[in-house]
Amino acid sequence: MSACGQDPCACDPEKVFELADGSLDSGREREVRGHLASCDGCRELYERELDLNAFLSSLDFSRTRPRSVCQGVAMALPTRPAKVRILWGLLAGALLVAALVSLELNGAQPVILAMNILGACWGLVAGSADVAHAVLAAAGTTILLALALGALIDILIALAVVSVSRGRRAREA
Ligand SMILES: [Zn+2]
Repeated sequence: MSACGQDPCACDPEKVFELADGSLDSGREREVRGHLASCDGCRELYERELDLNAFLSSLDFSRTRPRSVCQGVAMALPTRPAKVRILWGLLAGALLVAALVSLELNGAQPVILAMNILGACWGLVAGSADVAHAVLAAAGTTILLALALGALIDILIALAVVSVSRGRRAREA
């Protein structure tokens, strides 16, 4: 049934997420850690979750760090203003186009470009509205300015890449 090969299988991804977020009580934590020691699948999940948490907190967009990326996005998106969600959609589209175009142009590091734009997208969603007020109060305008500037630069890069590609295609036609 599951990759862990235990009988009965004790795999519980929800518990793994909670362990990675440090939200289990000590008895439960010992239990889940014991399971991780004997289950490659769950240990992999746990390490990936830790990486994602580290990535998110390194972005420092949100003081109310989501319990996991998927849950965080799922909770954040529906509560955002429509404008921000449209912007997110546009940026996601730009991200896709930029990644494809960059790949087509010279195969140069589309993943890094994608990560930059994705980071900007996340900043727009997570850094908007209520979180923005909290960050503003706590850290002043510096972070928000840096975020806005970073997002702007990423969009400009994406646009530049796209327009260069269009120009090249027009000349070849
Ligand atoms: Zn398992």
